Amino acid sequence: MKKSFIPAPAVLGMLGGGQLGRYFVMAAHELGYQVWVLDPDEDSPAGRIADRHLCADYDDAVALAELAAGCAAVTTEFENVPAETLAILAEQVPVYPSAAAVSVCQDRIAEKTFLKMNGLPHGPFFEINTLADIQAAPAHLFPAILKAARLGYDGKGQAVVDDRAAAEVSWHELGSVRCILEAKLPLDYEISVVLARGQDGKVKAFPSAENRHRNGILDVSVVPAWGSACVTDNACDVAEKLAGCLDYVGTLGVEFFVSRGELVVNEMAPRPHNSGHYTIDACATNQFQQQVRALCGLPLGDSHAHSAAVMVNLLGDLWFDGCKQREPDWCALLAIPGVCLHLYGKQAPRAGRKMGHFTVVGGDAQQVYERAMQARKILGLPDA
Ligand code: ADP
Ligand code: MG
Repeated sequence: MKKSFIPAPAVLGMLGGGQLGRYFVMAAHELGYQVWVLDPDEDSPAGRIADRHLCADYDDAVALAELAAGCAAVTTEFENVPAETLAILAEQVPVYPSAAAVSVCQDRIAEKTFLKMNGLPHGPFFEINTLADIQAAPAHLFPAILKAARLGYDGKGQAVVDDRAAAEVSWHELGSVRCILEAKLPLDYEISVVLARGQDGKVKAFPSAENRHRNGILDVSVVPAWGSACVTDNACDVAEKLAGCLDYVGTLGVEFFVSRGELVVNEMAPRPHNSGHYTIDACATNQFQQQVRALCGLPLGDSHAHSAAVMVNLLGDLWFDGCKQREPDWCALLAIPGVCLHLYGKQAPRAGRKMGHFTVVGGDAQQVYERAMQARKILGLPDA
């Protein structure tokens, strides 16, 4: 579909109703657009605030026809929408990012192969389809991480395997599905770059974040990223090149490892990214408004950060004291200067479920970091 400017109050379609979709709805509303959300969950965070919630599966032909007929353009908030769904919609309505770009990002083997073909930095990997492939994998990959090629997130669908015997056991545990075996790299630290690319190919990258994980789930993002400016500048260049190679349109998250001083791409998310949540409170234009702008053919906004920021994820675990459910102490948290609290309106807290986040912003990066750590302590979170 050709480049097109879509004026408000047109209707925009969103595939997925999670918190990323919810912030897209808010950003679209700010610019005067309406949003229809497709999500099978009756009580999805985005569906609750959308102008219309189509409560159906992502491959429901009737719902897709309705979405295509009613929307001026369609985008997505999660990578596991069937690429087929995007392709069907794209026959009738502009869809960004494209089905081709999303299909690369939703399959770890396609993703790593794409990096390799385009000369982008990546770690060693081997495709696993059978037990024989585990025997054939190069010895230098071990100790390794075995990951299901599709549908993994937040550390789910992967296992650390020290040797071939462990890989065989884990492969069965993962359901004997198509997998990728990656060398387990020694990590100095992890960073990410969130950027937006418009239909005209122009790119605006947000400042990179340093990310810390707990139990495979993002815990804290620190901006500006600690680490050498040379590495973070290089990460922005790589992310920009990568977006160009994908002919990407929309907001893209690129996760990197820094291993023994070397930058390697870990994975890409064809959507706004959890590590870009700080942009809501610390940037002139946030990652969700960039997604709206790219989708509607508007110029991208200023992506520089006006504040230092530390973002902390709030998982459902925080709502429990042992087996007893309790409300976290928001009053104490909000008494700390610079704290911006975001809750996603989810009804049931569960262990590991992303319920919200807070971002501490301010002019002094060291003070912002200290306040974020103080805030964690007040809520009863361990040191990051
Ligand atoms: P997810 O889709 O669950 O985010 P990732 O591939 O990003 O999956 O893996 C989650 C985390 O596991 C990473 O952020 C990193 O901390 C660790 N990890 C993943 N792959 C590797 C690897 N090849 N070497 C070292 N650590 C890794
Ligand atoms: Mg990841």
